[in-house]
Amino acid sequence: MLGFLNIFLAKFVKILTKKYYSTNMKKRFILTLNLWLVASALFAQIINTAEFDKSIKPGDDFFMHINGKWYNSVEIPSTQSGVGAYSFMNFPQRIRMQGILDSVSAAKNKIGTIEQKVGDFYASGMDTVTINKRGYSPVVPMLKQIDAIKDVVGLMKYVADQTKLNNYSIIGFRVGPDIKKSSINIVNLSQTGIGLPERDYYFRTDASTLNIQKSYKDYIAKLFTLTGISPSKAEGMAAAVYSIEKELATSHKTNIERRNVQANYNKLSVADIAAKQPNIGWLTYFKGLGINIDSLNMQQPAYYDRLNSLLTTTSIEDWKAYLRAKVLVSYADFLSKPFTSASFEYAKILTGQSAQKPRGEEITDAVDKSLGHGLAQLYVKKYFPEEAKRRMQVLVKNLKTAFETRITKLDWMSDSTKAKAKEKLYAFTEKIGYPDKWRDYSNVVINRKTYFENRLATSKNDFNYAIAKVGQPVDRTEWGTTPPTVTAYNNPPLNEIVFPAGILQPPYFDMNADDALNYGGIGMVIGHEITHSFDDQGALYDKYGNVKNWWKEDDFKKFKARTQQVIDQYNKFTVLDSLHVKGALTVGENTADIAGIAIAYDAFKLTEQGKSNTKIDGLTPDQRFFVSIARIWRVKTKDAFMRTYVNTNPHSPAKWRVNGPLMNFTPFYQAFDIKPGDKMYKPENERITVW
Ligand SMILES: [Zn+2]
Repeated sequence: MLGFLNIFLAKFVKILTKKYYSTNMKKRFILTLNLWLVASALFAQIINTAEFDKSIKPGDDFFMHINGKWYNSVEIPSTQSGVGAYSFMNFPQRIRMQGILDSVSAAKNKIGTIEQKVGDFYASGMDTVTINKRGYSPVVPMLKQIDAIKDVVGLMKYVADQTKLNNYSIIGFRVGPDIKKSSINIVNLSQTGIGLPERDYYFRTDASTLNIQKSYKDYIAKLFTLTGISPSKAEGMAAAVYSIEKELATSHKTNIERRNVQANYNKLSVADIAAKQPNIGWLTYFKGLGINIDSLNMQQPAYYDRLNSLLTTTSIEDWKAYLRAKVLVSYADFLSKPFTSASFEYAKILTGQSAQKPRGEEITDAVDKSLGHGLAQLYVKKYFPEEAKRRMQVLVKNLKTAFETRITKLDWMSDSTKAKAKEKLYAFTEKIGYPDKWRDYSNVVINRKTYFENRLATSKNDFNYAIAKVGQPVDRTEWGTTPPTVTAYNNPPLNEIVFPAGILQPPYFDMNADDALNYGGIGMVIGHEITHSFDDQGALYDKYGNVKNWWKEDDFKKFKARTQQVIDQYNKFTVLDSLHVKGALTVGENTADIAGIAIAYDAFKLTEQGKSNTKIDGLTPDQRFFVSIARIWRVKTKDAFMRTYVNTNPHSPAKWRVNGPLMNFTPFYQAFDIKPGDKMYKPENERITVW
């Protein structure tokens, strides 16, 4: 790693001395340094109790007691929808990645190397002179293809061509494990075809939603006019597109209904669906994709039934307008300024951002998305200490032990179900840091001048990668996220928990911090991910990752009653004016938060610090543990973003990821002397434990 660092530094110095780059790079270097200082101050591992908002009692609102001063003084930059930890920590993260990209894109790299592909992809995205000069000419061949469509058969042929570019329009095509035979990959078809965030956006009539509907139609009309269509015609076409989407939306399940794992499993033979949905022309479609399959999982059949009838009841001209809109919406961000601006004008309604992100930030995200395993190789060499992986393995082991003890002590579960739960717990795969095997990009050709074609080349490669897996054994070493991403996940069909390098840093994880902070940080995250295997959805999968019941009926009933308590409690939490947390949408995440904190706390109590009473920074070990929990969710977002988030995201807002679980957790009451009359106070019999 050190060797690489030296080479990296040498390259950097060389760049700084080149006259052409010097001013630009120095500026960026200073900017980077400033942002970095801000970020490290924000997440400094010393707890300064003077930063607490003492005007708010811990028992009234613990989130604001710890974060209030920060929350009330921090400004969300106009280019962001929020600030703070977690996903917004991608901020310092992105600066690191962008630093790598600035460097490799300026160096002379051998053609075909990862450095060349990643560097030239980035350079092509940054080359707005060429991109602007090309206007929308890159999509003209696709638009011509649409113009030439004469009938539904031709339409579906075109849809298959777009699927091969990973652009799905009306067919939600995915390859993944068969959840009832999780060792084999199959084709999964999900509902799709709409442009608004979720089906309910087409039917709600509140002012905020009406505004989003109007902005969306305006956006599509604008894209049409940018390709030479007259404004009045464009408006009519946009209305036709919207009406198709609304029709499709009527058949969509809500995001709450989609949490029903069993209902999403409909293994059907291709011959049957070909007969039942003849207009879709399934056989031609799959032939177009180059696969020969007998069966698949149609996750939401009602959608495909509706699509089948709409294909003939709606005029081909309207469908062509629809496909045209899909092309322009999908590719707007890869085209010239008028297109990216139109895309942003619409996006800001959903995110609350008032200014576009700097180009470098956008393109860094694009590289992470398109050549993520290439950029990640460079990233982990520079930023991921191998020691972190060993420390994490110990933490995960301790958390599992703590969870096992909790299972043993459960008073509502029978011994036989307990034994099955423990078997599942010890069958986990853990992935930490980065994959052993990187994705192969050898077939991807990247050219420094053609951003659009670069994006298509990586999408095509992603599709080929997916299609090669159909009918094949599931590769259990595969990763579902890029290593620099600040996230963690549980993947039930593989019975695995994954902690990428991105999350193994402050405020979650700090090799120099005391155990209280790490157990209240990454420990809570580990506990949360473990619990996902035992939340309302995860509990349906067995230790092999198959949807197969391992519960005694009576135990499962009691389990469901407890998760129902979680739903009812969270439904009452207010986010903005009349907007509440959607209890049924977030129940899995809330269950994981409630149990995650308890498991992390139990594991912490097994450490030397957990057993002691020695104060640090004036705080007891337990207090530090809970402060750490409030700090990892230190996030502030714009209202527009929060509305979209609450309507579509299965996680509760940051404040409720702190106050929600803690109001149910007795050791928290003891640590901060929470009393009847405090707003977070719940009588003991109303404090929920699931696990
Ligand atoms: Zn989660």
